[in-house]
Amino acid sequence: MTKAYTGGCACGAIRYEISGEPVAAVDCQCRQCQHQTGAGHASYLTFAGASRKIEGKAKTWEVVGDGGTVKSCAFCATCGSPVYIAFPANPDVIAVRAGSLDDPSRYAPQFVTWHAAGHAWDHLDPALPKFDRMPPA
Ligand SMILES: [Zn+2]
Ligand SMILES: [Zn+2]
Repeated sequence: MTKAYTGGCACGAIRYEISGEPVAAVDCQCRQCQHQTGAGHASYLTFAGASRKIEGKAKTWEVVGDGGTVKSCAFCATCGSPVYIAFPANPDVIAVRAGSLDDPSRYAPQFVTWHAAGHAWDHLDPALPKFDRMPPA
């Protein structure tokens, strides 16, 4: 059993602890991730069916992803940090933002999504597989 993944927002009002290993670790260059991060991409660790504990009250807003998935984006109302994304149609799944980890060095990206929306200045590891949209199911 590996160490739980722990993290939270910048001010500490929201904390999470997730046991288990991520099913995917993804850099996403879609336009929504650009807006939400203010950067060229967002980095996520996606967990499915992992036991999780979340403390503190996140503020959420829903958005339909470019691929049609409804996402509930959770952020801290005090410090504004985006912390995780939940999926109303799939409550077992949670995607936490790599930068919210207590130890972000545990994030090891496996592939890049929505590369077609990416910018030349957002240069990602050339060794990573890149998908113009989502990887084929
Ligand atoms: Zn906060
Ligand atoms: Zn994205």
